This record gives sequence, structure tokens and C-alpha cells, in this order.
Amino acid sequence: MNAARLAERAAALLWPRRCPFCGAVLGADAALAAVCPDCRAEEQRLRHTPPRLPETEHTFTALSAAFGGYYYAGAVRHAILLCKQYENPWYARELADLLAVRVFGAMPAKMPGGRPGYQNLTGLPLFDVLAPVPPRPGGVMADSLPYQLAKRLGQVLALPLDPVLVMTRANREQKGLDRAERLRNVRGAYAARPGTDLTGRRVLLVDDIITTGATVSVCALALQQAGAADVAALCLAADEELTVEKRTDVKT
Ligand SMILES: [Zn+2]
Repeated sequence: MNAARLAERAAALLWPRRCPFCGAVLGADAALAAVCPDCRAEEQRLRHTPPRLPETEHTFTALSAAFGGYYYAGAVRHAILLCKQYENPWYARELADLLAVRVFGAMPAKMPGGRPGYQNLTGLPLFDVLAPVPPRPGGVMADSLPYQLAKRLGQVLALPLDPVLVMTRANREQKGLDRAERLRNVRGAYAARPGTDLTGRRVLLVDDIITTGATVSVCALALQQAGAADVAALCLAADEELTVEKRTDVKT
């Protein structure tokens, strides 16, 4: 066992892992080694199955594919708020582990605090590098959820993390804007750092939430301009219309 895994195991003994959806301490009965029994049904309800995001709900350009682990609703929405508002980076670790299992077919860790095992059993395209969607100007990259998700995914999938993208100008918050406004708002707002050479590389772009697809599309374009041969996007949560059986506000 290498030093990083040994350190993880020691940390798991000292600081018990918690369910990223509600904060409860995880026991040996945690589903996928990361979800407490109380949140199990909610985690299953909000799974984005299959993980590929439909082009009927999003508009993607410069991307070969986009994947999401969950729908942006209920407990998943709450988990993202917990990550963002209370700066709990360990939530991001548990959520990234769930993504590795849900999207990439990794084997769940045997116990909370372990690391999922990954063998590319799903046959998904292999990527050379992970690139997080960067924070707004003035934001700290290491504190951003996309970076934290990508960092942990890199550890599980054995892929290097390269935060090559930067936001070159402040824009308005995307929230509340329609599809066309969102695209206008982010156009030209992202670029690869000067001198970045991604020639021939296959990049997996990581974001926390994909809504219309405007941000990841503009980021993918910037990666292509830096030479990337292929760009796919991965998000924790896709903001889409829930199907009737996934909704809790209607009787089926
Ligand atoms: Zn829970």
C-alpha cells in the first residue's frame, strides 16, 4: 500500500467519514461506502441513469460527450450547498467517489474512508487529464467544488489534474438567465493559461452542475484552442426536468 492510501486509512480512523447528503457518521452499513441508510432511497431516486446527458435538455458545442452522476434536486442539491456554503472539502471527496462508481463503474470502497477501485470496466473513453471549470475571478481554485471533485476523481481514476483554465473576465451570475443569455454571458469568459499546450490530449472537463451546457461548452472551446484532441464534460449534478417517477411532488 502506498503512502497516500496509508494516510487515507489513518485519517478514516481518526475522523469518521460522513454521509455527504445529510452529515450523519457512516457505519459499515453505508451503501457504496458513502451513503447512510437514511439517504439510500434518495440517492437512488436522484441517479442520472444512464449518466450520459441528453442533448434535448442541454446544448453542447466542442464536446464529444457529457456525463452526470445525479440530477440537481433534493438531497444532491443540499449536498452541493453544504460543500459551497460551509466549506467542507470532505463532502466533495465522498461525492467524487460516488461519481467514480456511478459514471466510471469503479468498485465502491469496502468501508467508509476507503478508496473506490477503478479498472475502466465500463469501457468509457480514457482521458489523459482532468481540468476543472475555474472559479470566478478572485475565487480560490483549491476551494472550488469543481477542483475538489476533479482532484479526488484524479486519485481514484489515476489521472493527472491540470487546472489549465482560468476565467478571464467577471460575468453576471448565470442563475436566472435563459439559455441564450447564459451563452452570451460566458462567451469568451474562459481561456487556457498562456503557454498551455494540450496538443493531442483527451481532456475530461469537470464541473459541479451543468444547466444549459453554456459554461462547459465555452470551456471546451478554450481547451480545443489550446490543442486538445477531445473534450468531454462530467458534472456531479445535471439540472434537468425530473421524470414523473423521480418527482416527489406528484402522485404516480
Ligand atoms: Zn445521509
